Amino acid sequence: MSEMVLEGKTAVITGGSRGIGQACAVKLASMGADIAVIDLCSEEAAAETLSLCEAHGVKAGYFPCDVSSFDGCAEVVAKITEALGGIDILVNNAGITRDKLVLQMKEEDFDSVIGVNLKGAFNMIRHTYRGFMRKKYGKIINISSVAGLMGNPGQANYAASKAGLVGLTKTVAKELSSRGINVNAVAPGFIETPMTTAFRNNDEVLKAIPCGRLGKPEEVASLVAFLASPASDFITGEVIRIDGGMAM
Ligand code: NAP
Repeated sequence: MSEMVLEGKTAVITGGSRGIGQACAVKLASMGADIAVIDLCSEEAAAETLSLCEAHGVKAGYFPCDVSSFDGCAEVVAKITEALGGIDILVNNAGITRDKLVLQMKEEDFDSVIGVNLKGAFNMIRHTYRGFMRKKYGKIINISSVAGLMGNPGQANYAASKAGLVGLTKTVAKELSSRGINVNAVAPGFIETPMTTAFRNNDEVLKAIPCGRLGKPEEVASLVAFLASPASDFITGEVIRIDGGMAM
């Protein structure tokens, strides 16, 4: 499908060394985009994603950065722009959990989750939007969660960060969409990644999902690819659930 071709575009994926972020990087590479993987991990841990992307004949680079650092994001965006010649697609995927019931939740558990999941997305948007404005083109995709739409016991910090991403998405969409920049969010339910290993064979969880199974990272990546492509040019400020029907 010609609308899905991303040749000549550069995509940045935060948290792209594994899980959903890796699947997004590889999918966007398969559509022709050059890829910048941002992560905390070592170059060795990102190597698998890079070689899977390069197999599609695109450029792929690893750029270490803690997305919760405002200045760190400024530096990494400058480095990516220099190395790959600009940014067209930003996937804010980096995320962490520090689950505890609210009565036991420590201040640092709350701050660190908000810092990575919500402020990290703000930091990246803040430092990439000028480049998008210059090009009058950009696709920003924030990875939220059904926890941000429904709430989830033990995840006050995580659900608040993911609900915050919904407000961030809609606000930035209202601010930037007239400049050719689309801003959307996806809200996955349970997806098979290292983050959800404990839930894979949990009957309670499976009963709550009308499709009767966990999702695959590649399924989330296909939705992200649609939102990164010209096929979705008239969609902005939207939050799309991908959860097997769990939150309907
Ligand atoms: P994952 O396997 O734990 O991967 C998260 C990635 O984020 C890792 O590569 C991690 O890097 C990176 N990261 C963490 N903190 C970072 C920081 N401060 N700066 C830069 N990178 C950082 O998670 P996942 O399951 O693929 O989830 C990806 C996204 O989808 C998250 O935002 C998550 O909340 C969301 N989500 C997941 C599910 C699910 O069921 N899996 C459901 C709903 C939403 P390191 O390897 O260096 O730690």
